[in-house]
Amino acid sequence: MRVYTHPGCELHINGNSHVETPERYPAMLEGVEKAKRRGANVETAAPVAPAPESALLAVHEAEYVEALKEASASGGGYFDPDTAAGKRSWEAGLLASGAAASAVDGAMEGEASFAVIRPPGHHATRSRAMGFCLVNHAAVAARHARNMGADRVAVLDWDVHHGNGTQDIFYADPNVLYLSVHRGGAFYPGTGYTDEVGEGEGRGATVNVPLAARAEEKDYAAVFSGVFGPVLREFSPEVIVVSAGYDAHRRDPLGGMRLETESFGRFAAFLSSVAEDVGAAPLALVMEGGYDLDALADSVAATIQGAESADAPDWKYSGARAARDAREALSPYWDSLREG
Ligand SMILES: [Zn+2]
Repeated sequence: MRVYTHPGCELHINGNSHVETPERYPAMLEGVEKAKRRGANVETAAPVAPAPESALLAVHEAEYVEALKEASASGGGYFDPDTAAGKRSWEAGLLASGAAASAVDGAMEGEASFAVIRPPGHHATRSRAMGFCLVNHAAVAARHARNMGADRVAVLDWDVHHGNGTQDIFYADPNVLYLSVHRGGAFYPGTGYTDEVGEGEGRGATVNVPLAARAEEKDYAAVFSGVFGPVLREFSPEVIVVSAGYDAHRRDPLGGMRLETESFGRFAAFLSSVAEDVGAAPLALVMEGGYDLDALADSVAATIQGAESADAPDWKYSGARAARDAREALSPYWDSLREG
């Protein structure tokens, strides 16, 4: 596993006493160290270069990019009650996106790669910051993969929140498949229903599976085996970007779900195995949320170990309701969901 990061990711400050705190950054790095101590083969690349502004402009509107830059330059400001920029946030955003793009490069060179970064990005839409997110790093990574010659790119988002921003950016794009499992209903940000399947040529290339609060690994296993596995195999991406959030961990203060630390290792092992089967590059992971610092560190370690593991979990789809509803909504677009 190659780790791409930059200490500048600690410089972003999102308002006062916010859960998306700079302390998350050393916790993530502690997770990387834990994986190393347990024998994982981890190579930390030299601090990454910032993404060029053009990489942000490829996924965000120019007016918004300018507003973000100005907010930082003028000392900071709030975009919504949960989302502020500080004076170093522009710099941190470029560095985090630079790491995400580098993780794609690492993956395309044949090494599983992890952009260990903050702030998270998947709520940032084309035109606005929201939900602690300023720049959509996973979208920058996916666009970078396309620019580097990948015809089909998948973004799989296991953060507890729906990645409305990533969905927004690629909603009409048939070449970037967005798949998300998240806590649904009235939970933030209130999107990600199964009938949000994409638009125009992108119809079918957005896959949403909302779960009820308190979901456990078995509920996620049904989604991976019954929906994500079949769709990914049929789509056959060349690159899989993972929006790796850890706020569905049972100890997370925001998520309300019941995943275990090891669940994330099994997600990574499952996806690594799919990537290998379809001939995709190894995973390019991009950090999203996760607000219990110990759970975050432990889960990052588990993810790194899982991505290296040769044993994919043997999960069988058995008709669980959330997965069944998603299969039904998406079956017009995917042959594999009409089988079995
Ligand atoms: Zn989240």
